[in-house]
Amino acid sequence: MSDDIRHDWSLADLQALHDLPLLDLVFRAATVHRKHHNPREMQVSKLISIKTGACPEDCSYCAQSSRYSTGVAPEKLMDKARVVEIASRAKDAGVSRVCLGAAWRSVRDGEQFDRVVDMVRSVTDMGLEVCCTLGMLSTDQARRLEQAGLYAYNHNVDSSAEFYETIITTRTYADRLQTIDNVRQTSVTLCSGGIIGLGETVVDRLKMLQTLSAIRPHPESVPINVLSKVEGTPLANNADVPSWDVVRMIATTRIVMPLSDVRLTAGRAHLAPGIQALCFLAGANSIFSSETEFMLTKAVPSPSYDADQALLVALGMTFREPFKMGHPTERAAACASSGCQDSCTA
Ligand code: SAM
Ligand code: SF4
Repeated sequence: MSDDIRHDWSLADLQALHDLPLLDLVFRAATVHRKHHNPREMQVSKLISIKTGACPEDCSYCAQSSRYSTGVAPEKLMDKARVVEIASRAKDAGVSRVCLGAAWRSVRDGEQFDRVVDMVRSVTDMGLEVCCTLGMLSTDQARRLEQAGLYAYNHNVDSSAEFYETIITTRTYADRLQTIDNVRQTSVTLCSGGIIGLGETVVDRLKMLQTLSAIRPHPESVPINVLSKVEGTPLANNADVPSWDVVRMIATTRIVMPLSDVRLTAGRAHLAPGIQALCFLAGANSIFSSETEFMLTKAVPSPSYDADQALLVALGMTFREPFKMGHPTERAAACASSGCQDSCTA
């Protein structure tokens, strides 16, 4: 197991790291990044909103909550044929992972979940990694998705436990950690991160990293979102996040979780190319891209396939192939046979 994998980061250690002079922090993060990853490779994902809007939860940042009038029109569960069509175009654009997002509080067994499992199987059979983000999930449901070939399950902790309850009241931080634990009972990899710009303090951001880095093994992918302000939500008038804060958060995340994919997620559309490049240098090795110039809904913009292709070419970077890190079930078997306690993701 690599000697820089830790699960016991103290808040003081994290604060000292985060507050380093910015270019020292970037240099240190870039050194860690290059030790474990090909710095010229970018993992590119495409989000597909397979069930949009009308979510009963009250996440104060979200365009899809039924509590806020954000102009996002609810849409029923998408047909598999349409998902496959979008996934096929994403694959042609160099995408290696398709993320199926449903605005549900939690997964309910039945016809709709059966259809999602079928989507996972079909898109996996196209040679793409599939991630799902469907809300809360039981272990049995995680197992069904695992058997269909699911590569990753996204369930963000979003912030510190203390700050979380100020942004979401319809579920608890413990609920989030329970779903994460349920996913960890399977070989499906874990995608878990959070958002900055919610009104949190730096200490909340560092407590979030503390929570994530205590998960064994570390989440295989860690999305760092920058709040995309949505008209009609309680956070619509929040202060902008300074670009340097984004760079600091990416660099600190990279050092804290060296093997994970660090994804520069929502909010990237508002970052200048130079800041994006600095984030990539500091260890962000995963992004969302899109044919529609928005992420899940029109409320949250995304850079386009063409813009990202041009950016990566300008930076001398390539799109990472699917399953470059092996398929979860193969990796889990390899880890188990290695006797490693942590089944790290390398
Ligand atoms: N319904 C699922 C859930 O809540 O886990 C998936 C929601 S969404 C696809 C996944 C993540 O996107 C959220 O957990 C949040 O971190 C992020 N997100 C959603 N709206 C956002 C916004 N307006 N700005 C930045 N990040 C956002
Ligand atoms: Fe619903 Fe997820 Fe949006 Fe929260 S983040 S309102 S759970 S879709």
